[in-house]
Amino acid sequence: MTTTTTKINLLGSSQTDLEKFLVARSEKPFRARQIMQWIYQRDIDDFDEMTDLSKSLRTQLKEEAEIASPKVQAKYESKDGCVKWLFSSGLGQAVETVFIPESDRGTLCISSQVGCALDCSFCATGAQGFNRNLSSAEIIGQVRYAIRDLPRRSNGEPAVTNVVFMGMGEPLANYRNVVSVLEILVSDWSYGISRRRVTVSTSGIVPHINKLADDCNVALAVSLHAPTDDLRDQIVPINKLHPIKTLLEACWQYAEKRSRRFITFEYVMLRDVNDSIKQANQLVSLLKGKPAKVNLIPFNPFPGTEFKRSSVESIRHFQSRLRERGLIATTRKTRGDDIDAACGQLAGKVSDRVKKPLGRKIIAPKISSGKANQDKGIRTPSV
Ligand code: SAH
Ligand code: SF4
Repeated sequence: MTTTTTKINLLGSSQTDLEKFLVARSEKPFRARQIMQWIYQRDIDDFDEMTDLSKSLRTQLKEEAEIASPKVQAKYESKDGCVKWLFSSGLGQAVETVFIPESDRGTLCISSQVGCALDCSFCATGAQGFNRNLSSAEIIGQVRYAIRDLPRRSNGEPAVTNVVFMGMGEPLANYRNVVSVLEILVSDWSYGISRRRVTVSTSGIVPHINKLADDCNVALAVSLHAPTDDLRDQIVPINKLHPIKTLLEACWQYAEKRSRRFITFEYVMLRDVNDSIKQANQLVSLLKGKPAKVNLIPFNPFPGTEFKRSSVESIRHFQSRLRERGLIATTRKTRGDDIDAACGQLAGKVSDRVKKPLGRKIIAPKISSGKANQDKGIRTPSV
């Protein structure tokens, strides 16, 4: 629950927080469920229209509360059907949200932070630096806006059937707000999306993976990107804090708590950095026999990066090796790149508030040296 000027924004409040708000005003907790249905299922912003609430409660809500959604600055439509919206997050900042339609589903890729402090060297968001966490209203507001804006599916259902936290930011570094949003997404009083259709993607904040398993065990995707600590330290700096062994232990525990449902391991294919057959074999050793599937992501370039996308051939060989050795492996289709909406291309508008040298060049590490990018250090995410 966030306050703007004097009013409390009920958008993004978890059911528990809404119940507390109502009980503090001598109302019955079940009113929270009614309000959630109005906000998310009927898409109503005006308390006067919430006709199953008493007149006096409506009047009180109007005085004390509001339903304030983030504002859209721009909308872009890709020739492959993807849609990208730029949401204002105040003071010249903006974040991006992408809709990816497929025949059997519609996936909304949402942002959780303005920028990202984790500084993975191949990521446009990381290169922008970090400004702040998004509020739960700003996160669920992306979903609500997209559902309102997009035409319904042919079966009359909302266009958005799946939600992935793969936009800007590290969701597990904005833990509390992200968990409130997860609860809303899966709630029967709101969108009622199955936990299997909601995915949190993380670069590996281990303590919060453990906590998420208890708080709201939705599907988990982990940005692995390297099979050894030496390399991962260089391209995913949070690895220095939570190395691969610790990360994978947390993953297997998470899977146990979800009846051994598979964890997706994302692996961005960077030419001559992490795409050799030797590295495919190393990846097999890490994941074989575990509830794991690998999703290879062809690297999407952005201005200033020195990384290059692996060739189609080497992605194919890498994937074949994983499959021959018994892993489930797929390659993600690049979508929306004509509107800079593909994975890792989301930059929004971020003014960095974390110390970062201006105009830093993004340099691809030399695998052999183990020294590149050492100047970057690790920024512990704000939680
Ligand atoms: N912070 C979270 C979620 C956002 S990034 C995370 O790191 O998992 C979503 C996915 O896009 C991650 O797997 C991320 O590593 C990947 N990605 C980042 N930059 C990319 C790029 N330039 N090309 C392809 N994928 C990229
Ligand atoms: Fe942040 Fe994810 Fe980009 Fe890494 S890949 S910088 S964690 S958004």
